[in-house]
Formats: sequence, C-alpha cells, structure tokens
Amino acid sequence: MPKTKSVKSSGRYQQKYGATLRKRVLVIETKAAKGQRCLRCKSINTLKRSATGIWHCTSCGIKFAGGAFIAQTTLGRTMTPEEFKNIKVTSKRQ
Ligand SMILES: [Zn+2]
Repeated sequence: MPKTKSVKSSGRYQQKYGATLRKRVLVIETKAAKGQRCLRCKSINTLKRSATGIWHCTSCGIKFAGGAFIAQTTLGRTMTPEEFKNIKVTSKRQ
C-alpha cells in the first residue's frame, strides 16, 4: 500500500480524486484507527459497525447509533442527555 509524506495512507489513491478529498479521507482514517471505546463496558476495540451509523459491541452486546466512521461523534456527545451519559453495566451477554 503506497504511502506519501503529505497524505500518508490515503496515498493509495495516487493522483486520483484530488488532494482535498485525500486529506479528508486521512482525517477519517486516523480517527478510526485510534481505537474506539465501548460506551457501556469501556472495552477497547470491541465495537463493530453493522451498518452506516449503527454500532454494536462484541463484548457486552450493546447496539447504538453513532457516527458513520467513528462510534461517537463530537456533536453526538454534546447532544446526549445527562442521564444517558453514564450508562452502568447491568448484565453481560452470555
Ligand atoms: Zn461493550
């Protein structure tokens, strides 16, 4: 997979699609590769995306709506009501 100095991993698109779009892809990919934490059980790298914006945790089984490429966006964190921000682990899935 070719990498370049300015657009790093999105250098695989070579000269296609334009520099601006390749830089946008790079921002998305670096956020997604950072490791995403489950909202309920806080375990890392257990989230799987089942569809665009729908995430489920393989550890505790929670299914929730999130961003298209990352599980929780900045806007979603802001708009979440206070009573849902600290979800406690009630039961583990067998
Ligand atoms: Zn979980």
